[in-house]
Amino acid sequence: MDFKTDINYRRQTLIKLLDAIQSREGEIIKALQEDFGKSAFETVLTETYQVVAELKRAIKNIHRWAKPKRVFPSLLNFPTSDYLYAEPYGSVLVIAPWNYPFQLAMAPLVAAVAAGNSVTLKPSELTPKTSELVAEIVRLVFDPNHVEVYQGGAEVTQKLLSRRWDYIFFTGSVAVGKIIAKAAAENLTPVTLELGGKNPCIVDSSANIALAAKRIVWGKFLNAGQTCIAPDYILVQNKVKPKLLDHLKQEITKAYGENPQMSADFARIINAKNWSRLADKIDSDKVYFGGQINAETNYIAPTIIDEPALESAIMQDEIFGPLLPVISYENEQEIETIISKYEKPLSLYVFSDDKPFAKRMVRDFSFGGGCINDTVVYFGNARLPFGGVGHSGMGAYHGKRSFDTFSHFKPIVKKANWLDIPLRYAPYGDKLKTLRRILKWL
Ligand code: NAD
Repeated sequence: MDFKTDINYRRQTLIKLLDAIQSREGEIIKALQEDFGKSAFETVLTETYQVVAELKRAIKNIHRWAKPKRVFPSLLNFPTSDYLYAEPYGSVLVIAPWNYPFQLAMAPLVAAVAAGNSVTLKPSELTPKTSELVAEIVRLVFDPNHVEVYQGGAEVTQKLLSRRWDYIFFTGSVAVGKIIAKAAAENLTPVTLELGGKNPCIVDSSANIALAAKRIVWGKFLNAGQTCIAPDYILVQNKVKPKLLDHLKQEITKAYGENPQMSADFARIINAKNWSRLADKIDSDKVYFGGQINAETNYIAPTIIDEPALESAIMQDEIFGPLLPVISYENEQEIETIISKYEKPLSLYVFSDDKPFAKRMVRDFSFGGGCINDTVVYFGNARLPFGGVGHSGMGAYHGKRSFDTFSHFKPIVKKANWLDIPLRYAPYGDKLKTLRRILKWL
């Protein structure tokens, strides 16, 4: 077994992994259902399909991605052939969160393996059924010297962090991201941090309000709002706010019925701690729609909060649940004032038929990625690298970019011996003039 140099071996293990996942789709759906009531539809769309697609892409392209690339040489070095070698970092630590517990553990694992690394995976302790299934699949497919899974919470992660790694890939909260970055700095270990943020969703008066409401409701209440790229809050032009509120209400009812608690399509909050955190953010005076909660089942209804004060609890940090604040604005300056209060978000969405306005929003704010006239779906194009900026993270992955993330690209210049231009060698004497002439020409 030489996963570091044998590309065929890597490819074979990925094929085995694909087979193991495809044959267990039913078990994966069941595990996520048991962990937090996630529907089969959402599990297939946002968990298994994403991993299967990454696997198929890696299996198809691994030889091409891993092959040394010929690069155009510099005339300054003439005569040379120049190459870029993709080299695995070595041993990689992948730490996953609970909110997409299958996808966010498996997708980085696939890429790290494709790039030739050994992997230690720490799935989330908050989704025990899914994490156990992930461990079982890994045990079945991989030699333990190649990929191993460590189960447990913060203590286990802390222990793992005290070891030296060649790369750490972390998905989770900003607070824990800082712990990871500090630990990595001890050994100058490079990191990817996939974090969160407060994602604005801007709706201007030119937008198709009915369609905007439908797409916002889908992106916000998918996974019961426990999505790092979900719209966190809406900024709506005040003229169209009543219409938007009305459509949001209609769309929630269309999607989840009169009582979303009875809907098989609406997930639960992951645990009691997060449930209380979210329940505490609901100011009943500000609830426009929803607001029902049930501690026994960790249920929180899709809820629209109308005009919360920017100082209120709900507008402090990432909500990460099915609460949707709607705040109106009069002009662009107010959008700028509100968005600039927060750290750079992971996503930004703008609904508008006014092209220059939409372009300005995308250009003027710094954020990980986003959509014009939709939410969340930019995640689904593997040709678009996915990752944050500033406090929403560093580094990116998906598709070929995932392979690159787990590879060090080693530049190699192969010099020919048939010619050795004497100019660069000391003693330099009056060679400076010639050098200047050549540099000008280059
Ligand atoms: P989290 O940071 O609490 O946990 C993530 C991982 O870190 C888990 O495996 C956990 O066991 C471990 N961990 C927790 N506390 C730790 C500590 N003190 N020391 C070391 N390790 C520790 O995050 P979470 O609650 O699982 O996930 C939610 C967060 O993740 C949200 O902020 C969300 O925005 C973010 N997220 C980001 C992305 C992305 O791709 N950018 C995707 C999903 C979630």
